[in-house]
Amino acid sequence: MRDNAMSYMQISGVRKSFGAYEALRGIDIDITKREFVVLLGPSGCGKSTLLRMIAGLEEIDAGDLMIDGERMNEVKASQRGISMVFQSYALYPHKTVRQNMEFGLKVAGLPRTERQRKITEAAEILQLTPLLDRIPKELSGGQRQRVAIGRAIVREPKVFLFDEPLSNLDASLRMQMRVELARLHRELQATMVYVTHDQVEAMTLADKIVVMRDGVIEQTGAPLEIYRRPANTFVAGFIGSPNMNLLKARVIDSKGGQVQVDAAGIVTEVEVNAMPEAGEAVTLGLRPEHLDPVMEPAARDPALDVVACERLGGVSFALTQLPDGQQLTLQLDGTLPVSAGDRLSCRVRPGQAHLFSAETGHRF
Ligand code: ATP
Repeated sequence: MRDNAMSYMQISGVRKSFGAYEALRGIDIDITKREFVVLLGPSGCGKSTLLRMIAGLEEIDAGDLMIDGERMNEVKASQRGISMVFQSYALYPHKTVRQNMEFGLKVAGLPRTERQRKITEAAEILQLTPLLDRIPKELSGGQRQRVAIGRAIVREPKVFLFDEPLSNLDASLRMQMRVELARLHRELQATMVYVTHDQVEAMTLADKIVVMRDGVIEQTGAPLEIYRRPANTFVAGFIGSPNMNLLKARVIDSKGGQVQVDAAGIVTEVEVNAMPEAGEAVTLGLRPEHLDPVMEPAARDPALDVVACERLGGVSFALTQLPDGQQLTLQLDGTLPVSAGDRLSCRVRPGQAHLFSAETGHRF
């Protein structure tokens, strides 16, 4: 679509403190043209603060924010060519959809025909054309969110920023809006930065995910890259649903990039880049979807006592306990007749185990 909606951005060494509290402790992110970047992390990790700094709503204490090669630190919010969509929509309640979208353009002094053209185009993209004369209270949550996005689109920004835009919607509407946002990104070919604590949104929307914790970046990468090779136990536990099992384990043997480990009787081989020592305490990461159940365990198989089984229909999640008391969740085919009190075992799918240092949490 428009060329001006394709900007690149460099964030380097960015810091922010509120009094003595350091909310951001040195952030480096490169965002290429047309990229959809998701800032993901738990509440309080600093992702909204970073987004607000990009928007110009919060001062940058140290470091540089560059858009298309120009330093933006001291540039006023209104001059940055950025549009932000908030969680709360922030629509004018007494203005129609059309007037809500038009307001910013009027303030900017755009002629009427130009305003109309942009509104028509945005309404078409967002399927809002039949709703243009309604006021916000006559709209559903999802439609209101689309108006808020429409207001951003008509400004033809260089970069779109989204701050948890779907968190006020119910689950099915969230899914629908996720699909719409992905389509919008394809159609607009725009650079987008999106904040969320929802890893499903991050996995499904992002070209690149930036996982944050306590004001620092834990890992940056494509969604499947992060899923397949989490850099540490924090990222491993944060990406994936249900969470990856993180078991206390011990190294039995290690040679030639292969490590054999034992976690309460679950013995498995893990491929590694760095070698732990034989006997070393480590953390073994096993995703529930990468454990195959053994329904009739032999005496040598690790015993798993089923504590609870959640049946979702197509799949079930069995929460089990290992002999040493550690818990292990398995994803099972929904047709398997497993319930609390059963005993089963499991096999780790080859190549699907992760190994982390018990001391630092870093991936081996
Ligand atoms: P959430 O998902 O809950 O919005 P977040 O990751 O977006 O969390 P931020 O809103 O960026 O987190 O806040 C990061 C940290 O900075 C938090 O500990 C927060 O309490 C603190 N903080 C944010 N804004 C201010 C402020 N204006 N004054 C003081 N502390 C602040």
